[in-house]
Amino acid sequence: MAYKKSVYLKAKAALDARRAASEQMARLRHEEVLRVCPALEDVEREMTACGAEVIRRIAGGEDCKQNFDTLKAHSLAMQQERARLLKEHGFAADYLDNVYTCPVCQDTGTHGSYYCDCYLALVRETAKKEIKAAQLGQCTFETFDLRYYSDTVDPQLGKSHRQIMAAVLQHFKNYAEQFTPRSRGAILLGKTGLGKTHLSLAVVNRLVERGFNVYYDSAAGLLNRLEKQRFSKNDTDDELEEDIFSSDLLVIDDLGTEFTTSFTTAAIYDVLNTRLNRGLPTFFNSNMTLNEIEERYSQRFTSRVVGNCDIVGFYGKDIRQQKIREKF
Ligand SMILES: [Zn+2]
Repeated sequence: MAYKKSVYLKAKAALDARRAASEQMARLRHEEVLRVCPALEDVEREMTACGAEVIRRIAGGEDCKQNFDTLKAHSLAMQQERARLLKEHGFAADYLDNVYTCPVCQDTGTHGSYYCDCYLALVRETAKKEIKAAQLGQCTFETFDLRYYSDTVDPQLGKSHRQIMAAVLQHFKNYAEQFTPRSRGAILLGKTGLGKTHLSLAVVNRLVERGFNVYYDSAAGLLNRLEKQRFSKNDTDDELEEDIFSSDLLVIDDLGTEFTTSFTTAAIYDVLNTRLNRGLPTFFNSNMTLNEIEERYSQRFTSRVVGNCDIVGFYGKDIRQQKIREKF
């Protein structure tokens, strides 16, 4: 379970920039204080000497508690003197120390022998930014609004659309919580505007938070990438491999809206087949019915989908249309 390499590299670069900025800020503030309060330099020299003396004595094997207590008291007195000087010149007592975004690790990203929480948050944030979906932030399980689905019983289904969609929502919540890269894939079917993209992005959001490498793209976008790689001189594209063929979950949105050629239908099958052979799950979202999908992509494609993916139907009235009507 890990994000792709580029995520860690970008997070590391962001952390380095953050630390460089705080060190620069520390330098500037120090110069600023020294200009009006040169006495600070003596106090700081004394503090450094005191620290060095402690280290020297420990290294020399000294363990006389009384001597250490005296040094500790001296060090504390120097710290208080430093704070007093700062205050006397109109600065906050922590003016020179309060320069880091994260006071715990002072923007180094590590805390003892562990990664600091701030670094882990930065990595998660970077992984989310890598997902190419502008609406990712808004599409969570919490923002999936069941009020847009009718609570009148549909006689054909024997249930209301709201009941069905509440079960679908719960299904994907459980899926995201229990997900492993050995989970089953899914095909989300239903007319446009019924929340297929919303719920698949909610899964993506949760999985990225849980530390999984997830790749989301429209069928057209994904095929575009594959086609470019096919014609490029560069035979190996590590990032494409990481995204499409070995990500923990691949979500292909809007299957069926892409321009179809013999290359695209073969490529879609190849993506699914390669991932299935590796035991990795894939999500498809489509406005088409299974029969239409079979007509377009072949029977062997749909049979692999049906055999290896949960088929989830979406019901209701176009939510985008309902939202527009609410406004006007
Ligand atoms: Zn930190």
